[in-house]
Amino acid sequence: MNDYIAQVSENLVKTYPHEPEYLQCVSSFLEMIAPAAADQRYEKLDLITRMVEPERMFSFLIPWVDDRGITHTNHGYRVQFNSAIGPYKGGLRFHPGVNPSVVKFLGFEQTYKNALTGLPIGGAAGGADFDPRGRSNREIMRFCQSFMYALYRYIGADTDVPAGDIGVGSREVGWLYGAYKKVTGRAQSSALTGKGLTYGGSRIRQEAAGFGTVYFLARMLEHQGATLEGKRLIVSGFGNMSWGVCRKAAELGAKVVTLSGPDGYIFDGDGVATQEKYDFLVKMRYSGEDRVEAYAERFGTEFYPGRKPWEVPGDAAIPCATQNELTVEDAIRIIANNVRYYVEGANMPATTDALKLLRLSPKILTAGAKASGSGGVAVSALEMAQNAVRYSWSRREVDEKLRRIMSAIYDASAAAAEAYGLGYDLIAGNDIAAFQRISEAMIAQGL
Ligand code: GLU
Repeated sequence: MNDYIAQVSENLVKTYPHEPEYLQCVSSFLEMIAPAAADQRYEKLDLITRMVEPERMFSFLIPWVDDRGITHTNHGYRVQFNSAIGPYKGGLRFHPGVNPSVVKFLGFEQTYKNALTGLPIGGAAGGADFDPRGRSNREIMRFCQSFMYALYRYIGADTDVPAGDIGVGSREVGWLYGAYKKVTGRAQSSALTGKGLTYGGSRIRQEAAGFGTVYFLARMLEHQGATLEGKRLIVSGFGNMSWGVCRKAAELGAKVVTLSGPDGYIFDGDGVATQEKYDFLVKMRYSGEDRVEAYAERFGTEFYPGRKPWEVPGDAAIPCATQNELTVEDAIRIIANNVRYYVEGANMPATTDALKLLRLSPKILTAGAKASGSGGVAVSALEMAQNAVRYSWSRREVDEKLRRIMSAIYDASAAAAEAYGLGYDLIAGNDIAAFQRISEAMIAQGL
């Protein structure tokens, strides 16, 4: 790391001492891009500071009334991180753990993820410390409306385009969009993505996050002269990302044998591979109970309370739950189980030390979420394109475009690592490729 980058890093720690997730993702990124960031131009333009800090950030109160008539007040945020290559774009997360550090970390990851897609979208993130667990549909709708009354003035098709994330699925996007339309008086469909198919959504958008991750893994396997056929995948989470992974994996001949929740994990030796099981995952998500044991009760599979799926042997480990879910002990288990591929679905799913261990293990090939987790936002950009021309592509067309985008991300990541003499290091490669795309766009546009 050169002196300038070290200085930027030190300044950041001083400015944001209480934002651990944000500092964690930036510090990992700076380490990865160091070989590609020696150019004097970056220091002259103070480009690195401008790339790791958000352009702006909003926070607002969200008052709402529950079904008993009691008023609650939550905290909402939107960080508009970087607009170098397009309008701000990124998800909204409703989860009690949401705070300024988490939204900044999500906005940072999103910025570089979006750049990798090769599509014209900048980076953003947002959400609220609202806990949807145990809330009725009416309560969630009222919350979404109150959230949008605060957010609407900051978003729009050419400014900032939110979508879903943890706690915000197509149901919530529907209520957010309905409120946006009422308050602005405009049916501006590409002001939000992840919409339902009846009002401007894209086919495959719900599946895209998981499909993209499996497409990325398929390219890694191909590099080793292998295919997905017969592979056993160890997956965490049971939300949108895991659901998409199960479906595309089954289609391509692999089997997802675990899912997890805050309550433990389930093992399904037959694979999460039938329509009934996929539908049940969606039901579990919308029940708002946030427990995976219901799957074991429904399908008679094993359930391991309080434990994580990484103790199960398999060909690939795919964390799809949330940030820092995977610890050093988990990484040690994955390595001991001879897992060959570690592919991130969730944003920053491993702690700094866990990721170090996995990357250092000569037996494991690793892929970072900015690359392998970018399928969702890639199809969001396709949704914006379809809205702009008042058109909609077929399932097959969108799926094929997604496959090609993921493949191009894989190629760009592998090529960038190769160009800097880093060998087959897809994580450093994806960070470098994204860094180069954004820095070039920023330099071209001046201060
Ligand atoms: N949180 C999502 C993601 O990266 C959604 C982003 C979007 O579609 O704007 O993956």
